[in-house]
Amino acid sequence: MARYTGPVCKLCRRESAKLFLKGERCYKEKCAIDKKNYAPGQHGKVKRKLSDYGVQLREKQKVKRIYGVLETQFRGYFRKAVKMEGITGVNLLVTLERRLDNVVYRSGLAMSRPQARQFITHGHITINGKKVDIPSYLVKEGDVVGLRETSKIKDIVKLSLETAEGRGLPQWILLEKAHMQAKVLKMPARDDIYGDIKEHLIVELYSK
Ligand code: SF4
Repeated sequence: MARYTGPVCKLCRRESAKLFLKGERCYKEKCAIDKKNYAPGQHGKVKRKLSDYGVQLREKQKVKRIYGVLETQFRGYFRKAVKMEGITGVNLLVTLERRLDNVVYRSGLAMSRPQARQFITHGHITINGKKVDIPSYLVKEGDVVGLRETSKIKDIVKLSLETAEGRGLPQWILLEKAHMQAKVLKMPARDDIYGDIKEHLIVELYSK
């Protein structure tokens, strides 16, 4: 699956929000958005009033960038969310939150979603003891996400776990630090999803 490989701090500056794409740096003074809180580019400092469409578009782009998902896959998630029972915007966010790369990050095993994605694609992550190298895999209740026995990233994961509480651990995942694994206790609810996200704007955008 294709992914964005350009400079990630520019994405935060474009969305005027911390998207937490760089790991530890995001929690320190070095964070680019704390230093330059304006859009990148020559005219970045010029504030323009966005149209309703512009506001909806930016919200969609922000959520795509938070979860590291490109347009085609994001639209696919939206189509599925429409068919599910309940509120479409919430369904969309819950589905994104269930992605394995998100769970590896949110459980504290990785410092950022991009790092989590790398751990997965390089074959370090297991679910219920079996290797899974698909970042978009959707976890289920009862799944145990862990590290392969022979994995060489244990020191990196240990480092991440040291600061995991400070990044905020979700209620729906139980981190078992000593075993370097996390158990999915239940499916996430809307309240479990952090960040200033206005999902109704995405629904409005795609419903045009
Ligand atoms: Fe975004 Fe992190 Fe870069 Fe700050 S350091 S701008 S939160 S990616």
